[in-house]
Amino acid sequence: MTARIESAARTAGRSPEDITTIVVTKFHPADLVRDLYALGVRDVGENRHQEARDKAEETVDLTGLRWHFIGQLQSKKARQVRRYASSVHSLDRASVVDALAQVDPEFPDAPPLPGFIQVNLTDDPARGGVHPDDVLALATRVLEAPALSLQGVMAVAPLEGDPRIAFERLRELSDRVRTLKPDARYISAGMSHDFAEAIAEGATHLRIGSAITGNRR
Ligand SMILES: *Cc1c(COP(=O)(O)O)cnc(C)c1O
Repeated sequence: MTARIESAARTAGRSPEDITTIVVTKFHPADLVRDLYALGVRDVGENRHQEARDKAEETVDLTGLRWHFIGQLQSKKARQVRRYASSVHSLDRASVVDALAQVDPEFPDAPPLPGFIQVNLTDDPARGGVHPDDVLALATRVLEAPALSLQGVMAVAPLEGDPRIAFERLRELSDRVRTLKPDARYISAGMSHDFAEAIAEGATHLRIGSAITGNRR
């Protein structure tokens, strides 16, 4: 997989060092996270709070392991995610941003939580993510939140159509977010089947599950 990512980066004229691969471990046991860690993986992703929290607890001894929360968040659970996640890729509405906006009184010295605005690039409002027209308003809200640190944007390509076109749109939204905060330049995009298209459109964080872990449901 590393070779395929490096090759896609070279094709796009980009440096592989500018791309972080997050291995999505959902549906797999904590033992797999241990195996990945032994192979050098330090960034792992989960999309459900309970599963993420349990695995993070089971692997607390793995120094330097970073958990990325990539799934839809409930405002009620959002604060708990802060306890184990090193970043949240799914800030998709004001209530979630507000739930994470304030410093956790139990951990007053914790650094701001890095967060990505998730954009819905489909025509289906039920899919996760904020409507493209509302990205800047939500980004402004994140920038005003003392306990959040805006990193950039995130999206999942629609099931239908050319993912490259969707990622091109995401890159344009990233450019607009950077007019608000120039260093919020990260783009979380690209999964097992569309990482090359995402890299071509500037993705800095890939979220790869099945191509690395196989399928298990
Ligand atoms: C599961 C998941 C992935 C990984 O998908 P694969 O197709 O298995 O690579 C990436 N992003 C999100 C938000 C996911 O839920």
